[in-house]
Amino acid sequence: MSGRIPREFIDEILHRVDIVDLIDSHVPLKKAGNSFKARCPFHTEKSPSFSVNRNKQYYHCFGCGVGGNAISFLMAFNHLDFVEAIEDLAGFVGIDVPREALSSPGKKRDFSALYAILERVAVFYAEQLRHHPQGVKAVEYLKSRGLSGEIAKQFCLGYAPDDWDMLSSRFDMQLLVDAGLVVNKGNGRRYDRFRGRLIFPIRDKRNRIVGFGGRVLDDSLPKYLNSPETEVFLKGKELYGLFELLEKQSRPKRIVIVEGYMDVLALAQFNMHYSVAALGTATSKMHLELLFRFTSELVFCFDGDVAGQNAAWKAVQEAFPCLKDGRQVKVMILPQGQDPDSLVRSEGVDAFEQRLQDSQVLSSYFIEAVSRGLNLATIEGRAQLISQARPHIEKMPAGFFREMMVDRLKELSEGAILDVLDATTARQAAQKSEMVTSSLIKPEWVVLALLIQNPEMSEVIEEMGLDWDKLSFATKKGLLGILAVIDRYRPKNTGSLLEIYREDAKKLEWLTGFANMQVIPPNNDDFDQEAAFVGAFKRVVELAEKQYFDELMARKLRS
Ligand SMILES: [Zn+2]
Repeated sequence: MSGRIPREFIDEILHRVDIVDLIDSHVPLKKAGNSFKARCPFHTEKSPSFSVNRNKQYYHCFGCGVGGNAISFLMAFNHLDFVEAIEDLAGFVGIDVPREALSSPGKKRDFSALYAILERVAVFYAEQLRHHPQGVKAVEYLKSRGLSGEIAKQFCLGYAPDDWDMLSSRFDMQLLVDAGLVVNKGNGRRYDRFRGRLIFPIRDKRNRIVGFGGRVLDDSLPKYLNSPETEVFLKGKELYGLFELLEKQSRPKRIVIVEGYMDVLALAQFNMHYSVAALGTATSKMHLELLFRFTSELVFCFDGDVAGQNAAWKAVQEAFPCLKDGRQVKVMILPQGQDPDSLVRSEGVDAFEQRLQDSQVLSSYFIEAVSRGLNLATIEGRAQLISQARPHIEKMPAGFFREMMVDRLKELSEGAILDVLDATTARQAAQKSEMVTSSLIKPEWVVLALLIQNPEMSEVIEEMGLDWDKLSFATKKGLLGILAVIDRYRPKNTGSLLEIYREDAKKLEWLTGFANMQVIPPNNDDFDQEAAFVGAFKRVVELAEKQYFDELMARKLRS
């Protein structure tokens, strides 16, 4: 996404903003040594371990491990996406985001005509619900499902009369085709997509109609039909009911993900304005990331049948990469034969909310799912548990949830071959390293950490004029990569350096681990970082030369 906004502009913003001022305006900071401290806004704690460093233009929490630059802070604190954070930051320092930077060059398309036709058709369908002779059927159906006129209005429900050219005889044909409202069969055969259906307009979170869902009122098939994907409607991005939910509350305690339109409406009818539904697709990672911008707790709600169970497991797997500290995912499997609508009707709101409260946390759902059918009393069963769990664990970002899962698996497997643990990321290593003295950290890690924390130290390495071909060490590729980036972009501090890697999540996580690594003694402002860097780097070179020499000898002996 940052490709759309010129790199120079991002540099300019990061150069103008002072991260201490920015964070202080959200979380009051106290000076402590050469950095600033506060109680961490991203996890609950009694004593402050959230630290902001002006020289590095970087924040970091020693408690929960978060860290980043000014852009990352705004994204995390205000639940913004990258472009939104840039816009806010530009406002904070008082400069304008170049307008053309907000849309990709060459692909500047105007969709206003498309949005306009979708809006007009929605209004048209809503009128048919009230005034078309067939609309009575739809109104009867809504009444039979206990839905009030108020809900119908709030969700802008409509009716598409059973006719082949209701829309095409009234609106611009090309726009109807582009909006997916008319099916184009070729050789002039065109007809309305939605016929004889109750209509659910789908709005994006900015209150623009992007598509429709339609439900039959008899037993014909398909029961539900959705607009196809169009230039303004991407199913993996939109969620039914999200706009209506946010209108009621911008920061809901939790959001419940249900299976269909009618579930969202039924819950809203009972004043539970916190559910959304994916649109004829499985919930995607993009859906979940979007929802986590508004709440910290998501509950998947699925039917109790086999299809529902399978859908739940699929959805849960999508959720693994989104599991950052402070986020909670739960799973609520409904009793057989019930849906949210029937359940809330038969049990009442309180009982339904109690079920939500009691729904299974993801960790226990996960363990149950991967150990289903396995005999954990046997070594084979335990080994199988680990091999089934591993691919999922590997997808989870480092952090509290992953560590908890690994611990739980360790318990269950009674220590059976848990090399998942060896895949410790730099970040986890960094967190551990804070507890041990820095002398235990490998010199190549010290080099990476100090370089990332002080990009200007690359000059020290440049001045040495090394023959890299004659050095062999584990982190050489990573180190050379960073040196090349520093050489090319000349970042002024850690915050600017990490920004260059924003699009590369894997590398960014690796680098952030080193940015957070505490290699200098805490509360020692006089510590000579450059001397430590030079010392560690010389040690790396020494070892690397020896390694290179050993490898050379081994090759010679073999030949
Ligand atoms: Zn924290």
